[in-house]
Amino acid sequence: MTLSRHDIHFHDKKIALLEAGPRKECDHVPDSYSNRVSSISPGSATLLSSFGAWDHVCSLRLKPFRRMQVWDACSEAMIVFEKDDLDDMGYIVENDVIMSALTKQLDAVADRVEVFYRSRAVGYTWPLPSHSCDTSPWVQIELADGRRLQTKLLIGADGHNSVVRKEAEIKNIEHRYDQSAVVATLHLSEATDNNVAWQRFLPTGPIALLPLSDTASSLVWSTSHEHASELLGMDEESFVDSINSAFWSNVNHSDFIDTAGAMFRSAISLLKPSGTAVRQLPPSVAKVDPGSRAMFPLGMGHATEYVQHRVALIGDAAHRVHPLAGQGVNLGFGDIACLAHHLSAAAFNGSDLGSLKHLLKFETERQRHNVSLIAAVDVLKRLYSTRLAPLVLLRTWGLQATNALPPVKEQIMAFASK
Ligand SMILES: Cc1cc2nc3c(=O)[nH]c(=O)nc-3n(C[C@H](O)[C@H](O)[C@H](O)COP(=O)(O)OP(=O)(O)OC[C@H]3O[C@@H](n4cnc5c(N)ncnc54)[C@H](O)[C@@H]3O)c2cc1C
Repeated sequence: MTLSRHDIHFHDKKIALLEAGPRKECDHVPDSYSNRVSSISPGSATLLSSFGAWDHVCSLRLKPFRRMQVWDACSEAMIVFEKDDLDDMGYIVENDVIMSALTKQLDAVADRVEVFYRSRAVGYTWPLPSHSCDTSPWVQIELADGRRLQTKLLIGADGHNSVVRKEAEIKNIEHRYDQSAVVATLHLSEATDNNVAWQRFLPTGPIALLPLSDTASSLVWSTSHEHASELLGMDEESFVDSINSAFWSNVNHSDFIDTAGAMFRSAISLLKPSGTAVRQLPPSVAKVDPGSRAMFPLGMGHATEYVQHRVALIGDAAHRVHPLAGQGVNLGFGDIACLAHHLSAAAFNGSDLGSLKHLLKFETERQRHNVSLIAAVDVLKRLYSTRLAPLVLLRTWGLQATNALPPVKEQIMAFASK
Protein backbone atom coordinates (compact mmCIF):
# COMPACT_ATOMS: atom_id res chain seq x y z
CA MET A 1 0.00 0.00 0.00
CA THR A 2 1.38 3.42 -0.91
CA LEU A 3 0.63 6.16 1.54
CA SER A 4 1.68 9.77 1.63
CA ARG A 5 4.58 10.28 4.01
CA HIS A 6 2.75 13.48 5.04
CA ASP A 7 -0.56 11.80 5.90
CA ILE A 8 -0.66 11.96 9.68
CA HIS A 9 -3.81 9.83 9.84
CA PHE A 10 -1.67 6.76 9.20
CA HIS A 11 0.96 7.51 11.83
CA ASP A 12 0.08 4.47 13.94
CA LYS A 13 -0.44 2.04 11.04
CA LYS A 14 2.11 -0.61 10.07
CA ILE A 15 2.34 -1.77 6.48
CA ALA A 16 3.97 -4.94 5.15
CA LEU A 17 4.76 -5.07 1.43
CA LEU A 18 5.26 -8.50 -0.11
CA GLU A 19 7.25 -8.62 -3.34
CA ALA A 20 8.01 -11.91 -5.07
CA GLY A 21 10.91 -10.33 -6.98
CA PRO A 22 14.24 -8.91 -5.80
CA ARG A 23 14.88 -5.36 -4.56
CA LYS A 24 15.33 -3.02 -7.56
CA GLU A 25 17.36 0.07 -6.96
CA CYS A 26 19.96 2.06 -8.84
CA ASP A 27 21.71 5.34 -8.01
CA HIS A 28 22.74 5.88 -11.60
CA VAL A 29 20.88 4.78 -14.69
CA PRO A 30 22.79 2.60 -17.16
CA ASP A 31 23.79 4.20 -20.50
CA SER A 32 21.36 2.03 -22.43
CA TYR A 33 17.61 2.40 -21.99
CA SER A 34 15.43 -0.42 -20.71
CA ASN A 35 12.96 -1.80 -23.28
CA ARG A 36 10.10 -1.59 -20.71
CA VAL A 37 8.80 1.94 -20.42
CA SER A 38 5.48 3.56 -19.50
CA SER A 39 3.78 6.73 -20.52
CA ILE A 40 3.11 8.42 -17.18
CA SER A 41 0.21 10.89 -17.00
CA PRO A 42 0.49 14.24 -15.15
CA GLY A 43 -1.98 12.85 -12.57
CA SER A 44 0.32 9.88 -11.85
CA ALA A 45 3.31 12.26 -11.62
CA THR A 46 1.38 14.32 -9.05
CA LEU A 47 0.67 11.19 -7.00
CA LEU A 48 4.35 10.16 -7.10
CA SER A 49 5.32 13.74 -6.10
CA SER A 50 2.94 13.64 -3.14
CA PHE A 51 5.13 11.08 -1.40
CA GLY A 52 8.51 12.19 -2.72
CA ALA A 53 9.13 9.56 -5.43
CA TRP A 54 8.83 11.88 -8.46
CA ASP A 55 11.97 13.81 -7.41
CA HIS A 56 13.88 10.52 -7.62
CA VAL A 57 12.40 9.79 -11.07
CA CYS A 58 13.49 13.28 -12.24
CA SER A 59 17.00 12.78 -10.82
CA LEU A 60 17.31 9.45 -12.67
CA ARG A 61 15.80 9.72 -16.17
CA LEU A 62 12.56 10.69 -17.92
CA LYS A 63 11.47 12.28 -21.18
CA PRO A 64 8.51 14.68 -21.23
CA PHE A 65 6.35 14.89 -24.36
CA ARG A 66 4.19 17.80 -25.47
CA ARG A 67 2.29 16.37 -28.42
CA MET A 68 0.68 13.12 -29.44
CA GLN A 69 -0.10 12.27 -33.06
CA VAL A 70 -2.31 9.28 -33.82
CA TRP A 71 -3.20 8.32 -37.37
CA ASP A 72 -4.79 5.60 -39.45
CA ALA A 73 -2.76 3.49 -41.90
CA CYS A 74 -5.86 2.95 -44.07
CA SER A 75 -6.64 6.64 -44.64
CA GLU A 76 -5.36 10.18 -44.15
CA ALA A 77 -7.31 10.52 -40.88
CA MET A 78 -5.34 11.64 -37.87
CA ILE A 79 -5.80 13.25 -34.49
CA VAL A 80 -3.33 15.48 -32.71
CA PHE A 81 -3.33 16.22 -29.02
CA GLU A 82 -1.13 19.05 -27.86
CA LYS A 83 -0.86 21.52 -25.07
CA ASP A 84 -1.30 25.21 -25.91
CA ASP A 85 0.71 26.22 -22.84
CA LEU A 86 4.13 24.93 -21.80
CA ASP A 87 2.70 22.06 -19.75
CA ASP A 88 3.87 18.52 -20.49
CA MET A 89 1.28 16.05 -21.81
CA GLY A 90 3.01 13.19 -20.07
CA TYR A 91 6.36 11.54 -19.47
CA ILE A 92 8.02 8.44 -20.86
CA VAL A 93 9.71 6.70 -17.94
CA GLU A 94 11.49 3.35 -17.78
CA ASN A 95 9.67 0.94 -15.46
CA ASP A 96 13.00 0.27 -13.68
CA VAL A 97 13.31 3.98 -12.92
CA ILE A 98 9.85 4.04 -11.35
CA MET A 99 10.67 0.94 -9.30
CA SER A 100 13.97 2.42 -8.18
CA ALA A 101 12.31 5.70 -7.15
CA LEU A 102 9.65 3.83 -5.17
CA THR A 103 12.28 1.66 -3.49
CA LYS A 104 14.21 4.76 -2.36
CA GLN A 105 11.06 6.30 -0.99
CA LEU A 106 10.10 3.10 0.81
CA ASP A 107 13.50 3.20 2.53
CA ALA A 108 12.60 6.67 3.82
CA VAL A 109 9.50 5.29 5.59
CA ALA A 110 11.11 2.03 6.77
CA ASP A 111 9.84 2.64 10.31
CA ARG A 112 6.26 2.11 9.09
CA VAL A 113 6.59 0.06 5.90
CA GLU A 114 8.42 -3.24 6.04
CA VAL A 115 9.24 -4.64 2.60
CA PHE A 116 9.72 -8.39 2.22
CA TYR A 117 11.60 -8.98 -1.04
CA ARG A 118 11.72 -12.42 -2.69
CA SER A 119 8.62 -13.30 -0.65
CA ARG A 120 5.82 -14.96 -2.59
CA ALA A 121 2.39 -15.21 -1.02
CA VAL A 122 0.95 -18.64 -1.74
CA GLY A 123 -2.24 -18.90 0.31
CA TYR A 124 -4.83 -16.81 2.08
CA THR A 125 -7.36 -17.56 4.80
CA TRP A 126 -10.26 -15.13 4.85
CA PRO A 127 -12.14 -14.04 7.98
CA LEU A 128 -15.92 -14.15 8.11
CA PRO A 129 -17.52 -10.65 8.10
CA SER A 130 -18.95 -11.27 11.61
CA HIS A 131 -16.35 -13.53 13.19
CA SER A 132 -16.99 -15.96 15.98
CA CYS A 133 -14.49 -16.33 18.84
CA ASP A 134 -12.76 -19.35 17.25
CA THR A 135 -11.94 -17.70 13.87
CA SER A 136 -9.38 -14.94 13.35
CA PRO A 137 -10.88 -11.55 12.49
CA TRP A 138 -7.88 -10.86 10.20
CA VAL A 139 -6.69 -12.10 6.81
CA GLN A 140 -4.02 -14.80 7.21
CA ILE A 141 -1.29 -14.89 4.55
CA GLU A 142 1.00 -17.82 3.94
CA LEU A 143 4.37 -17.23 2.27
CA ALA A 144 6.20 -19.73 0.06
CA ASP A 145 8.93 -20.12 2.73
CA GLY A 146 6.30 -21.16 5.31
CA ARG A 147 6.09 -17.85 7.20
CA ARG A 148 2.62 -16.52 8.06
CA LEU A 149 1.41 -12.94 8.38
CA GLN A 150 -1.94 -11.43 9.26
CA THR A 151 -3.55 -8.12 8.36
CA LYS A 152 -6.73 -6.12 8.82
CA LEU A 153 -6.64 -5.11 5.16
CA LEU A 154 -5.04 -7.02 2.30
CA ILE A 155 -4.42 -4.97 -0.85
CA GLY A 156 -3.99 -7.22 -3.88
CA ALA A 157 -1.57 -5.47 -6.27
CA ASP A 158 -0.23 -8.71 -7.71
CA GLY A 159 -0.79 -8.14 -11.43
CA HIS A 160 -3.23 -9.51 -14.00
CA ASN A 161 -2.81 -13.13 -12.83
CA SER A 162 -3.64 -12.01 -9.28
CA VAL A 163 -3.67 -14.88 -6.77
CA VAL A 164 -5.45 -12.60 -4.29
CA ARG A 165 -8.31 -12.14 -6.79
CA LYS A 166 -8.53 -15.87 -7.52
CA GLU A 167 -8.38 -16.95 -3.88
CA ALA A 168 -11.00 -14.34 -2.91
CA GLU A 169 -13.15 -15.92 -5.68
CA ILE A 170 -13.69 -12.58 -7.37
CA LYS A 171 -14.92 -13.08 -10.93
CA ASN A 172 -12.74 -11.61 -13.67
CA ILE A 173 -14.16 -10.82 -17.11
CA GLU A 174 -11.20 -11.43 -19.37
CA HIS A 175 -10.26 -11.83 -22.98
CA ARG A 176 -6.97 -12.69 -24.66
CA TYR A 177 -6.32 -10.48 -27.65
CA ASP A 178 -5.06 -11.99 -30.90
CA GLN A 179 -2.03 -9.72 -30.50
CA SER A 180 1.34 -9.53 -28.78
CA ALA A 181 3.30 -6.35 -28.19
CA VAL A 182 6.88 -6.19 -29.48
CA VAL A 183 9.03 -3.74 -27.54
CA ALA A 184 12.55 -2.49 -28.36
CA THR A 185 14.86 0.48 -27.85
CA LEU A 186 15.46 2.34 -31.11
CA HIS A 187 18.00 4.89 -32.31
CA LEU A 188 16.81 7.63 -34.64
CA SER A 189 18.48 8.54 -37.95
CA GLU A 190 19.11 12.08 -36.69
CA ALA A 191 18.74 14.04 -33.46
CA THR A 192 15.43 15.93 -33.04
CA ASP A 193 13.57 17.62 -30.17
CA ASN A 194 11.78 14.27 -29.98
CA ASN A 195 8.92 15.46 -27.80
CA VAL A 196 6.07 13.78 -29.70
CA ALA A 197 4.48 10.40 -28.92
CA TRP A 198 3.55 8.77 -32.25
CA GLN A 199 1.03 6.02 -32.84
CA ARG A 200 -0.20 4.63 -36.15
CA PHE A 201 -3.08 2.18 -36.37
CA LEU A 202 -2.18 -0.59 -38.81
CA PRO A 203 -4.85 -3.22 -39.65
CA THR A 204 -2.71 -5.72 -37.71
CA GLY A 205 -2.51 -3.45 -34.62
CA PRO A 206 -1.11 -0.12 -33.42
CA ILE A 207 2.60 0.76 -33.58
CA ALA A 208 3.88 3.42 -31.18
CA LEU A 209 7.15 5.34 -30.97
CA LEU A 210 7.69 6.92 -27.57
CA PRO A 211 10.48 9.47 -27.01
CA LEU A 212 13.35 8.61 -24.65
CA SER A 213 15.93 11.27 -25.62
CA ASP A 214 16.84 13.45 -28.62
CA THR A 215 18.16 10.38 -30.40
CA ALA A 216 16.37 7.37 -28.89
CA SER A 217 12.76 6.17 -28.77
CA SER A 218 10.96 3.16 -27.41
CA LEU A 219 8.87 0.90 -29.64
CA VAL A 220 5.57 -0.71 -28.62
CA TRP A 221 4.23 -2.58 -31.67
CA SER A 222 1.05 -4.59 -31.14
CA THR A 223 0.57 -7.14 -33.89
CA SER A 224 -0.49 -10.74 -34.52
CA HIS A 225 1.39 -13.35 -32.44
CA GLU A 226 2.94 -14.80 -35.63
CA HIS A 227 4.12 -11.42 -36.91
CA ALA A 228 5.47 -10.56 -33.44
CA SER A 229 7.54 -13.79 -33.44
CA GLU A 230 8.80 -12.94 -36.95
CA LEU A 231 9.81 -9.44 -35.85
CA LEU A 232 11.73 -10.90 -32.94
CA GLY A 233 13.62 -13.31 -35.20
CA MET A 234 14.55 -10.83 -37.97
CA ASP A 235 18.05 -9.52 -38.58
CA GLU A 236 18.54 -5.92 -37.41
CA GLU A 237 18.27 -4.34 -40.87
CA SER A 238 14.97 -6.05 -41.74
CA PHE A 239 13.56 -5.17 -38.30
CA VAL A 240 14.42 -1.48 -38.75
CA ASP A 241 13.01 -1.52 -42.32
CA SER A 242 9.77 -3.07 -41.04
CA ILE A 243 9.37 -0.30 -38.43
CA ASN A 244 10.05 2.52 -40.91
CA SER A 245 7.68 1.04 -43.45
CA ALA A 246 4.98 0.53 -40.77
CA PHE A 247 5.11 4.29 -40.09
CA TRP A 248 5.55 5.52 -43.66
CA SER A 249 3.98 3.07 -46.13
CA ASN A 250 0.56 3.86 -47.67
CA VAL A 251 0.02 0.34 -48.96
CA ASN A 252 -3.28 0.07 -47.01
CA HIS A 253 -4.79 3.25 -48.52
CA SER A 254 -7.60 3.08 -51.09
CA ASP A 255 -8.69 5.82 -53.52
CA PHE A 256 -12.29 5.56 -52.35
CA ILE A 257 -11.48 6.15 -48.65
CA ASP A 258 -8.91 8.87 -49.47
CA THR A 259 -11.45 10.78 -51.61
CA ALA A 260 -14.29 10.41 -49.08
CA GLY A 261 -11.94 11.45 -46.26
CA ALA A 262 -10.67 14.49 -48.19
CA MET A 263 -14.24 15.65 -48.95
CA PHE A 264 -15.24 15.31 -45.30
CA ARG A 265 -12.10 17.14 -44.15
CA SER A 266 -12.69 20.09 -46.44
CA ALA A 267 -16.37 20.22 -45.38
CA ILE A 268 -15.27 20.39 -41.73
CA SER A 269 -12.65 23.05 -42.41
CA LEU A 270 -15.32 25.21 -44.08
CA LEU A 271 -17.48 24.91 -40.98
CA LYS A 272 -14.70 25.21 -38.44
CA PRO A 273 -11.43 26.39 -39.97
CA SER A 274 -9.48 26.65 -36.69
CA GLY A 275 -9.99 23.17 -35.34
CA THR A 276 -7.49 21.12 -37.33
CA ALA A 277 -3.82 20.53 -36.48
CA VAL A 278 -0.79 20.28 -38.73
CA ARG A 279 0.43 16.77 -39.63
CA GLN A 280 4.02 16.13 -38.66
CA LEU A 281 6.22 13.36 -39.99
CA PRO A 282 7.56 10.78 -37.54
CA PRO A 283 11.34 10.43 -37.23
CA SER A 284 12.96 7.58 -39.11
CA VAL A 285 14.69 4.79 -37.24
CA ALA A 286 18.32 3.85 -37.94
CA LYS A 287 19.21 1.15 -35.40
CA VAL A 288 17.85 -1.10 -32.68
CA ASP A 289 19.63 -1.72 -29.37
CA PRO A 290 20.99 -5.27 -29.49
CA GLY A 291 19.08 -7.58 -27.15
CA SER A 292 16.30 -5.03 -26.51
CA ARG A 293 13.61 -6.83 -28.51
CA ALA A 294 10.95 -8.70 -26.49
CA MET A 295 7.29 -9.63 -26.87
CA PHE A 296 4.32 -9.76 -24.48
CA PRO A 297 0.90 -11.34 -25.15
CA LEU A 298 -1.92 -8.83 -24.69
CA GLY A 299 -5.31 -9.13 -23.05
CA MET A 300 -8.07 -7.24 -21.30
CA GLY A 301 -9.63 -8.04 -17.96
CA HIS A 302 -11.89 -6.51 -15.36
CA ALA A 303 -12.72 -7.80 -11.88
CA THR A 304 -16.46 -7.65 -11.20
CA GLU A 305 -15.65 -6.54 -7.64
CA TYR A 306 -12.61 -4.57 -6.46
CA VAL A 307 -13.33 -5.13 -2.76
CA GLN A 308 -14.56 -7.62 -0.26
CA HIS A 309 -14.49 -7.63 3.52
CA ARG A 310 -10.78 -6.87 4.36
CA VAL A 311 -9.62 -7.08 0.71
CA ALA A 312 -9.09 -4.50 -2.03
CA LEU A 313 -7.71 -5.05 -5.53
CA ILE A 314 -5.72 -2.37 -7.35
CA GLY A 315 -3.78 -2.09 -10.61
CA ASP A 316 -3.72 -4.96 -13.10
CA ALA A 317 -5.14 -7.28 -10.42
CA ALA A 318 -8.41 -5.32 -10.87
CA HIS A 319 -8.15 -4.36 -14.56
CA ARG A 320 -5.99 -4.99 -17.59
CA VAL A 321 -6.06 -2.90 -20.75
CA HIS A 322 -4.48 -2.97 -24.19
CA PRO A 323 -1.37 -0.71 -24.22
CA LEU A 324 -2.71 1.35 -27.16
CA ALA A 325 -3.87 4.12 -24.79
CA GLY A 326 -0.80 3.91 -22.52
CA GLN A 327 -3.11 3.85 -19.49
CA GLY A 328 -2.51 0.55 -17.62
CA VAL A 329 -0.15 1.77 -14.94
CA ASN A 330 -1.90 5.14 -14.76
CA LEU A 331 -5.19 3.42 -13.89
CA GLY A 332 -3.31 1.60 -11.12
CA PHE A 333 -1.85 4.85 -9.75
CA GLY A 334 -5.37 6.33 -9.87
CA ASP A 335 -6.61 3.38 -7.79
CA ILE A 336 -3.88 4.04 -5.22
CA ALA A 337 -4.71 7.75 -4.91
CA CYS A 338 -8.40 6.96 -4.49
CA LEU A 339 -7.90 4.10 -2.00
CA ALA A 340 -5.41 6.14 0.09
CA HIS A 341 -7.94 9.00 0.18
CA HIS A 342 -10.77 6.80 1.51
CA LEU A 343 -8.51 4.95 3.96
CA SER A 344 -7.19 8.26 5.27
CA ALA A 345 -10.76 9.42 5.96
CA ALA A 346 -11.50 6.09 7.69
CA ALA A 347 -8.32 6.35 9.80
CA PHE A 348 -9.22 9.93 10.75
CA ASN A 349 -12.61 8.68 11.97
CA GLY A 350 -10.99 5.83 13.89
CA SER A 351 -12.80 3.26 11.68
CA ASP A 352 -11.61 -0.24 10.86
CA LEU A 353 -9.57 0.08 7.64
CA GLY A 354 -10.71 -3.33 6.41
CA SER A 355 -14.42 -2.56 6.71
CA LEU A 356 -16.48 -2.70 3.53
CA LYS A 357 -18.12 0.64 4.27
CA HIS A 358 -15.27 2.80 2.96
CA LEU A 359 -13.80 0.14 0.66
CA LEU A 360 -17.08 0.26 -1.31
CA LYS A 361 -16.65 4.02 -1.82
CA PHE A 362 -13.27 3.30 -3.40
CA GLU A 363 -14.80 0.61 -5.61
CA THR A 364 -17.66 2.79 -6.86
CA GLU A 365 -15.40 5.73 -7.63
CA ARG A 366 -12.77 3.70 -9.47
CA GLN A 367 -15.11 1.42 -11.38
CA ARG A 368 -16.93 4.49 -12.72
CA HIS A 369 -13.62 5.79 -14.11
CA ASN A 370 -11.96 2.53 -15.15
CA VAL A 371 -14.88 0.78 -16.87
CA SER A 372 -15.44 3.60 -19.36
CA LEU A 373 -11.75 3.72 -20.25
CA ILE A 374 -11.38 -0.05 -20.58
CA ALA A 375 -14.50 -0.24 -22.79
CA ALA A 376 -13.32 2.66 -24.99
CA VAL A 377 -9.88 1.07 -25.44
CA ASP A 378 -11.45 -2.28 -26.34
CA VAL A 379 -13.76 -0.66 -28.94
CA LEU A 380 -10.80 1.24 -30.46
CA LYS A 381 -8.75 -1.96 -30.67
CA ARG A 382 -11.58 -3.71 -32.54
CA LEU A 383 -12.54 -0.75 -34.74
CA TYR A 384 -8.98 -0.37 -35.98
CA SER A 385 -8.35 -4.09 -36.55
CA THR A 386 -10.28 -4.14 -39.80
CA ARG A 387 -9.85 -3.16 -43.45
CA LEU A 388 -13.63 -3.32 -44.15
CA ALA A 389 -14.39 -0.16 -46.16
CA PRO A 390 -17.58 0.95 -44.30
CA LEU A 391 -15.82 0.68 -40.93
CA VAL A 392 -12.67 2.37 -42.24
CA LEU A 393 -14.84 5.20 -43.55
CA LEU A 394 -16.73 5.45 -40.26
CA ARG A 395 -13.56 5.66 -38.18
CA THR A 396 -11.93 8.06 -40.69
CA TRP A 397 -14.83 10.50 -40.39
CA GLY A 398 -15.00 9.97 -36.62
CA LEU A 399 -11.31 10.74 -36.18
CA GLN A 400 -11.43 13.75 -38.50
CA ALA A 401 -14.50 15.15 -36.74
CA THR A 402 -12.95 14.63 -33.29
CA ASN A 403 -9.71 16.26 -34.44
CA ALA A 404 -11.68 19.31 -35.58
CA LEU A 405 -13.45 19.74 -32.24
CA PRO A 406 -11.05 21.22 -29.65
CA PRO A 407 -13.55 20.93 -26.72
CA VAL A 408 -13.91 17.17 -27.35
CA LYS A 409 -10.13 16.76 -27.58
CA GLU A 410 -9.69 18.75 -24.38
CA GLN A 411 -12.11 16.41 -22.61
CA ILE A 412 -10.22 13.35 -23.87
CA MET A 413 -6.91 14.88 -22.75
CA ALA A 414 -8.32 15.80 -19.33
CA PHE A 415 -9.59 12.23 -18.85
CA ALA A 416 -6.29 10.66 -19.98
CA SER A 417 -4.16 12.99 -17.86
CA LYS A 418 -5.69 11.78 -14.56
C1 LIG B 1 4.09 -3.82 -23.83
C2 LIG B 1 3.38 -3.05 -22.75
C3 LIG B 1 3.44 -1.66 -22.74
C4 LIG B 1 2.78 -0.93 -21.75
N1 LIG B 1 2.86 0.43 -21.78
C5 LIG B 1 2.19 1.14 -20.85
C6 LIG B 1 2.22 2.59 -20.85
O1 LIG B 1 2.85 3.22 -21.70
N2 LIG B 1 1.55 3.24 -19.87
C7 LIG B 1 0.83 2.58 -18.93
O2 LIG B 1 0.21 3.24 -18.09
N3 LIG B 1 0.78 1.24 -18.89
C8 LIG B 1 1.44 0.51 -19.82
N4 LIG B 1 1.40 -0.86 -19.79
C9 LIG B 1 0.64 -1.52 -18.73
C10 LIG B 1 1.45 -1.59 -17.45
O3 LIG B 1 2.71 -2.19 -17.69
C11 LIG B 1 0.68 -2.39 -16.39
O4 LIG B 1 -0.60 -1.85 -16.28
C12 LIG B 1 1.38 -2.30 -15.04
O5 LIG B 1 2.67 -2.88 -15.09
C13 LIG B 1 0.57 -3.04 -13.97
O6 LIG B 1 1.20 -2.86 -12.75
P1 LIG B 1 0.81 -3.75 -11.49
O7 LIG B 1 1.76 -3.31 -10.41
O8 LIG B 1 -0.63 -3.69 -11.23
O9 LIG B 1 1.13 -5.25 -11.92
P2 LIG B 1 2.54 -5.91 -12.28
O10 LIG B 1 3.40 -4.95 -13.01
O11 LIG B 1 2.21 -7.21 -12.93
O12 LIG B 1 3.23 -6.16 -10.87
C14 LIG B 1 2.76 -7.16 -9.98
C15 LIG B 1 3.77 -7.28 -8.85
O13 LIG B 1 3.27 -8.20 -7.90
C16 LIG B 1 4.32 -9.14 -7.57
N5 LIG B 1 3.64 -10.41 -7.24
C17 LIG B 1 2.83 -11.15 -8.05
N6 LIG B 1 2.38 -12.24 -7.41
C18 LIG B 1 2.90 -12.18 -6.16
C19 LIG B 1 2.79 -13.03 -5.01
N7 LIG B 1 2.02 -14.13 -5.01
N8 LIG B 1 3.48 -12.68 -3.89
C20 LIG B 1 4.23 -11.55 -3.86
N9 LIG B 1 4.37 -10.72 -4.90
C21 LIG B 1 3.71 -11.03 -6.04
C22 LIG B 1 5.18 -9.24 -8.82
O14 LIG B 1 6.48 -9.67 -8.49
C23 LIG B 1 5.14 -7.81 -9.33
O15 LIG B 1 6.13 -7.00 -8.74
C24 LIG B 1 2.04 -1.60 -20.77
C25 LIG B 1 1.99 -3.01 -20.77
C26 LIG B 1 2.63 -3.73 -21.75
C27 LIG B 1 2.55 -5.24 -21.76
